[in-house]
Amino acid sequence: MIAACGTDPGEPPPGPDPSIEGTPVSTFESTSCSTADVLALSIQIAEEVNCMLPGQLVEFEEGNGIVFAGGAVLPYLGEGARDDLYAAAAANPGVDVEVTSAFRTVVQQYLLRRWFELGRCGITAAAEPGQSNHETGRALDVSNFAAWVGTFADHGWDHSVPGDPVHFDHLASADIRGADVLAFQRLWNRNAPDDTIDEDGNFGPATADRVKLAPAEGFGIGGCLD
Ligand SMILES: [Zn+2]
Repeated sequence: MIAACGTDPGEPPPGPDPSIEGTPVSTFESTSCSTADVLALSIQIAEEVNCMLPGQLVEFEEGNGIVFAGGAVLPYLGEGARDDLYAAAAANPGVDVEVTSAFRTVVQQYLLRRWFELGRCGITAAAEPGQSNHETGRALDVSNFAAWVGTFADHGWDHSVPGDPVHFDHLASADIRGADVLAFQRLWNRNAPDDTIDEDGNFGPATADRVKLAPAEGFGIGGCLD
């Protein structure tokens, strides 16, 4: 007879528990200048958006002429933008696309805005959380932009933000601004069932208060659940 070593097959496997325990995002307002400190939480938000809006925020990878410069790249774009990034990189072999920023979550934008307001980190402009063009899912910053302006234009990447030469937008892709705010609200409510907030996609005072409290290491229960 084979000894039983698993759990009762009638019992569901143990899952993660709701939790908002961790280092509050607000900690980094005064101690950091890198959005990489909230990358784990931001990946959960991106995964939640990907489930809410299938195909409008997908991961892209390094390799085949694409490199990530720095540790703060959150490599997500709309599917069409990703495909046109891959096509552009393939059309100009021998030069890498040096990506310094792609998707940005409401949590990362919150910190950038605070650093700007506090005069920290050398930031000269930062949109309000929920309003940045890097929250659209169709923005990309490329440090060696000069090598790529022509090829990117051939593949649908617009290069026309004044004073921001590293910035490109894939204008044929949907602008999903606000989806990151809604994803955060859903994650918060999933993990703080006694402190729920409106799921409206707007960055109001109640959402701002929870962004400050949210755990940089990620919630107990992550994104991509029904
Ligand atoms: Zn940019």
